[in-house]
Amino acid sequence: MHGLMMNTPLLISSIMRFADLNYPDREIVSVTADNPNHRYTYRDAFARTRQLANALNKLGVKQGDRIGTLAWNDYRHFELYYAVSGSGMVCHTINPRLYPEQVTYIINHAQDRFLFVDLLVMPLIEKLWPALAGVEGVVVMTDEAHMPASEIPNVMCYETLLASESDQFDWPEFDENTASALCYTSGTTGNPKGVLYSHRSAVLHAYAGCLPDVLAFSGQDCVLLVVPMFHVNGWGVPYSSPMVGAKMVMPGPKMADGEALCALINRESVSIASGVPTIWLALLSYLEQSGATIPSVNRVSVGGAACPRSIIETFDRKYNVSVHQGWGMTETSPLGTIFKIKPAMGELTQDQQYDLRAKQGCGVFGIEMRITDENDQPLPWDGVAFGALKVRGPWVASEYYKLEDGDNPLDADGWFDTGDVATIDPHGVMTITDRSKDVIKSGGEWISSIELENTAVGHPGVVEAAVIGREHPKWTERPLLIVVTKEQQAVSKDELLAWFDGRVASWWKPDDVAFVEALPHTATGKIDKLSLRKQFADYKFP
Ligand code: ADP
Repeated sequence: MHGLMMNTPLLISSIMRFADLNYPDREIVSVTADNPNHRYTYRDAFARTRQLANALNKLGVKQGDRIGTLAWNDYRHFELYYAVSGSGMVCHTINPRLYPEQVTYIINHAQDRFLFVDLLVMPLIEKLWPALAGVEGVVVMTDEAHMPASEIPNVMCYETLLASESDQFDWPEFDENTASALCYTSGTTGNPKGVLYSHRSAVLHAYAGCLPDVLAFSGQDCVLLVVPMFHVNGWGVPYSSPMVGAKMVMPGPKMADGEALCALINRESVSIASGVPTIWLALLSYLEQSGATIPSVNRVSVGGAACPRSIIETFDRKYNVSVHQGWGMTETSPLGTIFKIKPAMGELTQDQQYDLRAKQGCGVFGIEMRITDENDQPLPWDGVAFGALKVRGPWVASEYYKLEDGDNPLDADGWFDTGDVATIDPHGVMTITDRSKDVIKSGGEWISSIELENTAVGHPGVVEAAVIGREHPKWTERPLLIVVTKEQQAVSKDELLAWFDGRVASWWKPDDVAFVEALPHTATGKIDKLSLRKQFADYKFP
């Protein structure tokens, strides 16, 4: 027997319509290439979104067509999120910091019909243009006054495109499983793979994001979206914020600039912010140098890479900010797990809380997880057994977009293999020990590079650290620690190695330390271990 409730489709346009009616005066503040302080309201945003939908119609784009964006976080990108998906097209967000050949591959593979490009990204598109045979035109996300000269034949100005359009538009209703957005994994191995989200997955994921034990968004909040909108839908924040009527602040190209972030936070009274650990390192280092504070912020969500305990502790002790670490990936929309204290954990000391915050957190309703051994058999949640982390749920990818070799990412039981290795404790707290390709295997036993990195960063003289496995004649592989140290604080190799005594199992201790000026980062701001392994390919332990 079926229930007798309405089968209203879960559509992204419904979030927009709701916010427009219920929070019309809530503000959206952006930094853009052409304006350091742009502000308007949800009412303005959605009126312009309807103008943009009319403009897209005139360009002749049809439902299901892909529209590429190469842009930072700002109000025009936000309008594209809603106009493109709301009209039934696919909003394909592209990371402009990927290698140029990857950007070309992604645009051609997705068969984007038009590209919407930030002013600052235009030089890249000019260069790639001859290889982008299928793209019919480029819209520069700026006004006439800032339009760059261009060699591209069909270049349009975003503001001019909107200016002549009506702000009346009826959002179409369609099946909630219709594709809404497309995002490629950065593809550190092989070509990038496309993850195709649906309206249903985006709306359910945004609902979950608002929950108090997840991102905890409310209408009282001012949310700073530092995580790029091309990095897994900005973690769903552009959907979750309008759902509850939170004020939004978007830093545009200034997202890695500690000083600019601090100024924005204080000017706009930001209460919640989300981003990868490197961003928070930049902000903390600016705060330390300048003596500035961020009193309005009460919560920072961090994910995308392991967050060192030292970041968590500094935020709490010095700035009264509570750090909530989450784990996820492009294929999981991305929310998978997040920090949570459960009553069953009993009273926790401050140190125990920091330890807990340094783990990847508990499952979010909507995502089931398990760890399995090499025979695909589930392992116990005892905090000791570690294995392949697998997930399933309504916002997890079931396959990749147009994958030529037909590679199925699901195991025989229909679970998605994340490529991460993890433990889960009896409270359901998940800890990533490594990405399976970063695991260090010493004498047949696994060493967690993440735990070693977190320990190294806890040393007061260390700015950033990476650990990679290098060949060893006796143990097959041993850990090599690569560090960037603070200029003003000389640290010796022996001192650094002694730091691990008593902090990790003795046989985990790195065998050697390499000091470098800077570590390479991927396009999403994570430490690029693939390049490090290349850089240290000829390295031999002393
Ligand atoms: P990319 O492959 O470009 O890094 P993703 O953002 O999809 O793209 O990366 C997902 C991966 O990032 C996860 O599989 C995991 O290895 C890592 N990751 C994400 N969040 C965390 C976290 N909190 N701690 C440790 N690793 C994380």
